[in-house]
Amino acid sequence: MDNSILNKIFDEIDVAKKILIVSHVNPDGDTLGTMCALKLFLKQKADILIQTDAKIGIPDTYKFLPAINEAKNLDNIEDIYDLIIAVDVASIDRIVRKARIIFDNAKMTINIDHHKTNNGYAKLNWVVGDASSAGEVLFNIFKEKNIQITKDMADCLYVSILTDTGCFRYENTKSETLEIAAQLIKLGVNNSDIAKKCYNNKTKNLVLFQSSVISKTEFLFNNKVAVVLINESDLNKFDATNEYTEGIAETLRTIKTVEISAVLKESNNQTTKVSLRSDNVDVCEVVKRFNGGGHIHAAGCTIKKPLKIAKELLVCEIERCLNL
Ligand code: AMP
Ligand code: MN
Ligand code: MN
Repeated sequence: MDNSILNKIFDEIDVAKKILIVSHVNPDGDTLGTMCALKLFLKQKADILIQTDAKIGIPDTYKFLPAINEAKNLDNIEDIYDLIIAVDVASIDRIVRKARIIFDNAKMTINIDHHKTNNGYAKLNWVVGDASSAGEVLFNIFKEKNIQITKDMADCLYVSILTDTGCFRYENTKSETLEIAAQLIKLGVNNSDIAKKCYNNKTKNLVLFQSSVISKTEFLFNNKVAVVLINESDLNKFDATNEYTEGIAETLRTIKTVEISAVLKESNNQTTKVSLRSDNVDVCEVVKRFNGGGHIHAAGCTIKKPLKIAKELLVCEIERCLNL
């Protein structure tokens, strides 16, 4: 750890009057868990912003996180902050609309992350590329600074690590990650209860939506590539929220022959959000061309084209990267 940067981060936290902690768009367990753990440490000095509209709100799965009910959304946020801390935010374009204006106006900005593709867009950057999750990065910061981790903070950090490691299955799960998980359990985390809350909490409608879109999967290149297209009518039919598309790419990756799974989701007819998962191939290479980012086996991007055209562009890039 380069303690001079960490010390600067804590100096800025000390002098700041009002701090805003920002998640990435389409928030997942890591960004939300890290955000809540940091909020529990900073208490009233910090607000948390989940980058969704009020209509979408907090993802149902994560409503159990301590402190999350105090979260602001993009519709009720004001520009009153002198320090912004982004957590698990791979790139500046994952901070959108009003949040981006607030970020750009802030006197001081801090970026706490673990994406190798993070280019250090804040004034102070604490990016640990080999950490499993932003939660693991924050845990190590708390340890380094001798900050007491309460049971509620431990729950939040455990959610971060559990979800970003795919329940400790991905190769970002190092022995240190498991040691941290063990320490969190010693602090009182009920690991099986948290796993149930994160994974066995789906609605019937969500599972029916996923099976309906999965049944339309296109298999390309000798079943090496699986592509799911989700258009607005699919989403409307099931009244689907953002959470409905989580996990579809992971499911397709479990097919033996599939090397890359891709889920393409249309929004406003003109923009397509892409999620890629792989077993061996580096999918960051694929999204590079579209200014996306992420990790070797889980990456994403947004292509400013309608669904079908985005699919053609993406499949060409997959073909090139896989040498198919
Ligand atoms: P997702 O498929 O949305 O779960 O994202 C997989 C990984 O890629 C996550 O680590 C995201 O942070 C990252 N990611 C997704 N979309 C983008 C994007 N547009 N730009 C940079 N990174 C992204
Ligand atoms: Mn994330
Ligand atoms: Mn993460």
